[in-house]
Amino acid sequence: MNKFAHPVSAHFRTTIAAALAIFLALPLYSAPAAAADAEQQTNAPGQTKQLPRVIVLATGGTISGTADARSAIGYNSGERTGQQLIKDVPGIEKFATISAEQISNIGSQDMNDKVWFQLAKRINEVFDRGEADGVVITHGTDTMEETAFFLKNVIHSTKPVVLVGSMRPGGVTSADGPNNLLEAVEVAASPQSQGRGVMVVMNDTIHDPRWITKTNTTSLQTFLSPNAGPIGYVDPASIRFVAPVLAARKSSYTLPADGQLPRVEIVFAHSNMDATQIDHAIADKAKGIVIAGVGDGDVSNAAMLAMQRAAKMGVVVVRSSRVGSGFVNRNVEVDDDKSGFVASLDLNPEKARLLTQLLIANGITSPAQVQAAFSATY
Ligand code: ASP
Repeated sequence: MNKFAHPVSAHFRTTIAAALAIFLALPLYSAPAAAADAEQQTNAPGQTKQLPRVIVLATGGTISGTADARSAIGYNSGERTGQQLIKDVPGIEKFATISAEQISNIGSQDMNDKVWFQLAKRINEVFDRGEADGVVITHGTDTMEETAFFLKNVIHSTKPVVLVGSMRPGGVTSADGPNNLLEAVEVAASPQSQGRGVMVVMNDTIHDPRWITKTNTTSLQTFLSPNAGPIGYVDPASIRFVAPVLAARKSSYTLPADGQLPRVEIVFAHSNMDATQIDHAIADKAKGIVIAGVGDGDVSNAAMLAMQRAAKMGVVVVRSSRVGSGFVNRNVEVDDDKSGFVASLDLNPEKARLLTQLLIANGITSPAQVQAAFSATY
């Protein structure tokens, strides 16, 4: 009799074969094990370290959109929740333990004080209570720079808050949302990001809210920081900051209790400009007027006289530029000292408007004080 025909040996062989089969089959079913591994990163032999905790606050935008048949590039924004967006990104769980909260689901052309105040309150709360090491905000790209700049000025903590969006909706061949979201979580979770506060991550680049602006209506490479360049670069395997961590601001602005920022209008300058739009803004009781001036923040003579009238009445008048890069300096072509104007420096009209709103809300309205706040980064 063949010794392998022995009943005990046969049992032994069956057991070995079964164990081998289970062992070989394991990789096919290893996803839960890998996820569990991802929850705890090995630090040193015998030691484990918890992954950083990141909270995703979803607000809408193209990143939460899905393709629609209305045209080759048609889509509906605000279709998918933050939770669903995270599920669409394989490997994201390796960077952080992630949870998601839905703040709104709107196109960012509809972004408003209510959502801003909610975001600010929740982020301050998250960091005050130690609920997370970083926050990611999914957001439409149209007004992302404004939300980022607003948050930079009202969040107390310097822990990372990363805004991210996409230029293409989910479901199209060139969708950029999943990789942008992966990189945003990677940046929010990185120890290198501690102390950097609010940032924007888009298309492999990391930007400071003060500098970033959207420069192209459709291209994936739309966000640039014209006067400074990106503060860093990111891909799914690495993060490289090329700018130092700035000294933390001493204070952030307080938000008005009535939930609304004061009225500040932007008036766009052009050739053949008269005083009508500026006079309308004054009649509408604007507390501030930002000029998207030609060149280095200039306007026609008629408009200049209207601006001087506004400043005399106590309206905060800020000269910014429609050009898109460069600085608007004081007292070059315009006598700002004499007219009581503020020069916006590098702040584009939409960010100059926001800062003016925050300053007025905090009782800062004299041209000298307002100018000092605009210059605060330098
Ligand atoms: N209109 C969209 C938005 O800003 C565009 C985008 O997200 O790219 O919400």
